[in-house]
Amino acid sequence: MLFSILSLFIGISSVFLVRGSKDFRGLLLFQLGGLMMILLTYITTQDHILYKIGLNDNFVRFVLTLLSALISILWINSATELYNHRLANREALTIYTTLAATLCVYYSFIDYNSEFALSLRPMFLILSISLLFLSGLVCLYRQTNIGYFLLCLSLFMLMSKISVSAFFYQYNWLNLNIFNWLWIYIFAVAVIFMRFGMYHDDLKHSWNTIDKLNLQISNMINTSPFPIIITRADDNKLLTINNKASALFGLTHKDVAYHNLNEILVDEHNRRKFFENLLLHGGVDDYEVMVCNLLNASPFWMSASAKNMEYNNIEANYITFQDIALRKEQENNLQNQAHKDPLTMAWNRQYFEKFVPERIKECIHNAQNFSLLLIDADKFKKINDKYGHKFGDRVLIEVAKICQKSLRDDDIVARFGGEEFIIFLNDAEQRSAMRVAERLRQSIENNVFKDDDDEAVKITVSIGVVSSEKTNSLEVLLRQVDDAMYLAKHNGRNQVAAYDEQQLRSVQNKKSKSGKRNIHPVFQNEESEEISLLDSYGSQPL
Ligand code: GH3
Ligand code: MG
Ligand code: MG
Repeated sequence: MLFSILSLFIGISSVFLVRGSKDFRGLLLFQLGGLMMILLTYITTQDHILYKIGLNDNFVRFVLTLLSALISILWINSATELYNHRLANREALTIYTTLAATLCVYYSFIDYNSEFALSLRPMFLILSISLLFLSGLVCLYRQTNIGYFLLCLSLFMLMSKISVSAFFYQYNWLNLNIFNWLWIYIFAVAVIFMRFGMYHDDLKHSWNTIDKLNLQISNMINTSPFPIIITRADDNKLLTINNKASALFGLTHKDVAYHNLNEILVDEHNRRKFFENLLLHGGVDDYEVMVCNLLNASPFWMSASAKNMEYNNIEANYITFQDIALRKEQENNLQNQAHKDPLTMAWNRQYFEKFVPERIKECIHNAQNFSLLLIDADKFKKINDKYGHKFGDRVLIEVAKICQKSLRDDDIVARFGGEEFIIFLNDAEQRSAMRVAERLRQSIENNVFKDDDDEAVKITVSIGVVSSEKTNSLEVLLRQVDDAMYLAKHNGRNQVAAYDEQQLRSVQNKKSKSGKRNIHPVFQNEESEEISLLDSYGSQPL
């Protein structure tokens, strides 16, 4: 009894081992059929146990035949599964099942003396076992797994046992425990072997899949229309690059291992921000980075997207780049449209008001002085009157050019109104600002403008100068530079004047004594009033 329970346990464990596996459905059915077979032999050999529990003849026969039919159905089914649906098909199985059920009912309840039906019962079993055995052999041939060989051995043992007991079930000596259960041990070993085989196959399949995927990924990376770089996350060393990246950054595939992403992302501040974002979010999307070609070291802007990922078991960053030269150009054009004066192409007043406060903050942060120059063309109304408005326009364009040419890139030249230009001089204190202003004044004075009749015309400008040594309030400085420019006009035009409070006061005194209101002293002898362009400045947000 203990031995039977142990055997049953081993049988169930082997079933458990192959649970949930589609491939082993056939084996499960087979196992179930085998267990039913044990039950059948047990019933038939245990001295009419069915009669003892009170069933009549018909029912006993019915149960026995039904069991035989069921077992055969299970084995046929498992044979079908094992043979991958090639040995028997669903229709054949249905016919077989119907036939078996009809015979079962006929023999049990209609003509229980039918020798024919009685003889069919073991025939069912033998037929189904033979099919099972055959399919096992085919599997063995196809799979070359020792598990299948053992399975066939197990089937063979079971078949011998059943075919003998089906005919001679009255002989109790055949019901030796060891013989009854032997097939189940072989079955268990078969399952273990097959399980190992399955793991091995799974592993092989997985490696193949990984190899295939790796190949696909590297093909995708290489054929991508975008430059792609994969770097080691630890130290930004380049692991691989695609053809586009190789051409763009001037790197050959062979040299990749000797380079670092830091060489490509040239701007340190920009690079730091990029990596901070990458670290914080595990990825960066469409981030503008300054990159450079290692061969010609010329930097340019690109948009980069990056993602943390594993590459060949290394923690890596996958970075793609997109050319944004066109986008940048469009942005610049739009910005220019909004911020450039359409006539002179110098910056306009809006630009000055928007960006100069930021530049002033930078200067304060860097402990640098800055200066403002206000340039006003002298007697420009007369120039217009004499040579025409078109010529006046050309003069303004030229003056703007002269200013831009003579100044540094980080200075700002803006047209502040009609014939007035304001200049922000970065990192310049009063003395150097005066020098710059004088240089500008001379350049304009010496420039020869040609009118429509090719006649040489000369113009002059007056320039007011202030610097941030005493105050860095833009509002105050703008009023002062306006006053300084008035002083330059007052002193006779075509000259540079610094803001001088004392001189201004004396000029203002004269103005109040003269009793003329709202007219700048400079313009007292002239027809029109000078209304400062800066009059409304204080009311505007900077
Ligand atoms: P001053 O500044 O020396 O006192 O004399 P001015 O004649 O230059 O002074 P005012 O400010 O009175 O005149 C400015 C003139 O500039 C008025 C206008 O005819 C001329 N002007 C302003 N904007 C433009 C422009 O866009 N094109 C041309 N051609 N002339 C302009
Ligand atoms: Mg003016
Ligand atoms: Mg003027």
